[in-house]
Amino acid sequence: MKKIIAIYGKGGIGKSSTASNIAAACAMNGKKVMLIGCDPKSDSSITLLGGKRIPTVLETLKEKKNVQKDDVIFEGFGGVKCMEVGGPEPGVGCAGRGIIVAIETLKKIYPEYLDNDLIIYDVPGDVVCGGFVAPIKKGFVNEVYVLTSGEYMPLYAANNICRGFNKIGMDLGGVICNSRNADRERELAEEFSDKIGSKLIGYIPKDPLVQSCERDGFSVLEKAPESEIAGVYKQLAEDLLANDERVKATPLDDDELRELSKKYSA
Ligand code: ADP
Ligand code: SF4
Ligand code: MG
Repeated sequence: MKKIIAIYGKGGIGKSSTASNIAAACAMNGKKVMLIGCDPKSDSSITLLGGKRIPTVLETLKEKKNVQKDDVIFEGFGGVKCMEVGGPEPGVGCAGRGIIVAIETLKKIYPEYLDNDLIIYDVPGDVVCGGFVAPIKKGFVNEVYVLTSGEYMPLYAANNICRGFNKIGMDLGGVICNSRNADRERELAEEFSDKIGSKLIGYIPKDPLVQSCERDGFSVLEKAPESEIAGVYKQLAEDLLANDERVKATPLDDDELRELSKKYSA
């Protein structure tokens, strides 16, 4: 089945950096990749485009009647096609609704988008309402991952997101840990994944290169392709492409999650 994945997780946990580095890694491996940024911050693709922001679908739709592919889809590093949904008017529109409008537009202006080998949706933070799972509910996405660190709040969010997936009948592809250098973080992430009935599919160490490359407008794959962290993203990209496991997650209750977190704190 075609890989159309979305990575969920607490705001600031590293969804955009993970999505863009994985996109770059797959592209370097000869895959046709599209990255769809759904966060109103519209910063998913910026490191694939040398630090440049692209016009978003929602703002372009406001300015132009007949939006064309070239207006909103731009080729970045390795030929990755980048699109940013953009945000609704602050305090007025609905982000979830905006995502649906943008994807319907994508289908019209670039109907062959499903020919890509990998499509990655970089979605907004925690699931707080139905809007954030709109790409899943609408059937745009067929594989979902949760990104967490070993810290309590990101784990709490990841666990909650799994509850959201269950509510809409979406099985989980796996857990990815983006390290914050918490105590015995890999072990904790492994036990968490195991307890929710899934598996830890990748562990990304905390590495200052991620931020310094980002500051310069690049993925680590482009700016530091020989680095250790680039190797981690390459491996994760391969593992994601090869992964065909899906499980109905079994989220922990609040006490269980707290106990698990305590067990690993120094
Ligand atoms: P999100 O999209 O989940 O809100 P971002 O991808 O924007 O989060 O990441 C938040 C910050 O953390 C960014 O400045 C990013 O460069 C940094 N970051 C993400 N992953 C790592 C990592 N593995 N090592 C170091 N910094 C990271
Ligand atoms: Fe829409 Fe949900 Fe955002 Fe409310 S919280 S505006 S329903 S996406
Ligand atoms: Mg982001």
